[in-house]
Amino acid sequence: MSPANMTRRPPASVRRALRAEAGFGCAACGNPILEYHHIIPWSERHHFEIEHMVALCPNHHREYGKMSRNQAYQVKRNPINVRNKRLKGLLVTNRTNQSLVVGAVRFQGIKTAISVFDHPVIGHSVVDGEIKINCFIPNSNYLAEIEVKSNDFSAEIDSFWDIEFRSNYVCFRKRHGENFLSIDFRGDDVVIWGQFELAGRLLRMNREEFRYGNYGAMSGFSFSGSSEHIAFGLGAPELVLERANHAKLVPSPRLRHRQNGELMPLPVFRLP
Ligand SMILES: [Zn+2]
Repeated sequence: MSPANMTRRPPASVRRALRAEAGFGCAACGNPILEYHHIIPWSERHHFEIEHMVALCPNHHREYGKMSRNQAYQVKRNPINVRNKRLKGLLVTNRTNQSLVVGAVRFQGIKTAISVFDHPVIGHSVVDGEIKINCFIPNSNYLAEIEVKSNDFSAEIDSFWDIEFRSNYVCFRKRHGENFLSIDFRGDDVVIWGQFELAGRLLRMNREEFRYGNYGAMSGFSFSGSSEHIAFGLGAPELVLERANHAKLVPSPRLRHRQNGELMPLPVFRLP
């Protein structure tokens, strides 16, 4: 890039590296709305050197612009989200979204869009005409890797390669080019896409399909409660998921048979 057309906005790869370094939020306060601060100022030298830049929210960008470089290096070394191992944020929109679209399927007036073994995974409610999203995306131990409650999200940062946030849009990626989960409030509908393992099978939600495991798109669903609920039960509605609970000496998640109480391990996912 020639200096003449070089702008202060860092290239995508630099922004991603600075986000990841700071735990995908402001190094000082954790806010996921980010700007990229030049610790060695742009006026002194035109550069995008990751070691001399830090991700900050607009407020802290302004503040750190007035502070010593040492203070900026200090906050860069010890970002709050990395200390907490967690990113938190709020999705907001000024649009009235029509309905919830998950993969290629539209949900209207259905509180729980997806559940697995009776456990809500993706759902929504409508409050004063506004869609509020709820998600519980579990890790293999069925603890929340991403949790969204009424548009307030929280994620474990360690497992993500990138988390991109724009107040009305968030996208979680575990590797370059993938979409693990995205929640998008920018259009007429709230659109959720992604691809992740759920109770031993791969759930794929994108523009073309909504597919679970080896089932054909849609054909793996069981519908229950007269359109109140759309559920996966791996064809076994009698099985209910129980999450790990250390107080009750349940070290890992398991399935319980509704009638006879029989316990069995959750299926383990193996990539083909
Ligand atoms: Zn901040």
